Amino acid sequence: MNDSLLVEARDLERSYHNGREQIRVLHGASLELRRGEAVAVIGPSGSGKSTLLNLLNGLLPPESGELRLFGRAHTELTESDWAEMRRTRIATLFQDGNLIPTLTVSRNIAFRAGLAGVHRHDGDALLERLGIAETAQRYPDQLSGGQRQRAALACAFAMQPELILADEPTGSLDYATAQRVAPLFFDAIRERSLGALIVTHNPELAQRCDRILELRDGALSPWVSAQFS
Ligand code: ADP
Ligand code: MG
Repeated sequence: MNDSLLVEARDLERSYHNGREQIRVLHGASLELRRGEAVAVIGPSGSGKSTLLNLLNGLLPPESGELRLFGRAHTELTESDWAEMRRTRIATLFQDGNLIPTLTVSRNIAFRAGLAGVHRHDGDALLERLGIAETAQRYPDQLSGGQRQRAALACAFAMQPELILADEPTGSLDYATAQRVAPLFFDAIRERSLGALIVTHNPELAQRCDRILELRDGALSPWVSAQFS
């Protein structure tokens, strides 16, 4: 096996079933993601981007197709294998932030890092770099949407994952803040040789990735266009 491959997905299929209605979301979706590589996934709302991330972090099984994470086939992974990978190796940034409401930002970071077995985390430096050092002692509901999103990023990096799956990581940031956070996000990815799959509508973020894939009609293909519209 090529051990730089973090994710290998071939022909993933996934539908949702509402009573008799079947909503086919992923239909022949394939991708590979290597260590040190950042890949953007773009696609219209409802095209299945969040569903794809949920397949890749083990929250939703594919109905068919092949999926390997860190070289291990999903058919061989138990629930506890997935849980262990999400605890220590895969950081998932969900669309609505991942902070625990009863803990301050600083405690959120310590908690997330501690779960991952990282006891000397660089949370304070991360908050500083993300421009939200002043939020360390605040609770999530005392933060703006953009501050919460950056605090969630700090938690993700502090756990020292190998793979980041991010669903619109700059979606609640205003344009100027997104411009400021995007380079920090990529510096952290590159410095640590992480693999990152980033669902985004933000051209700034997408164009800093090594590749852009478009999710359309259930499948992923390289995105080609002269201009980001
Ligand atoms: P995106 O993230 O690209 O906006 P999603 O993956 O959230 O797309 O959703 C893809 C499609 O699947 C949408 O049509 C959505 O309504 C539908 N869908 C998502 N989750 C469920 C669910 N739990 N049950 C039924 N349909 C769902
Ligand atoms: Mg989504």
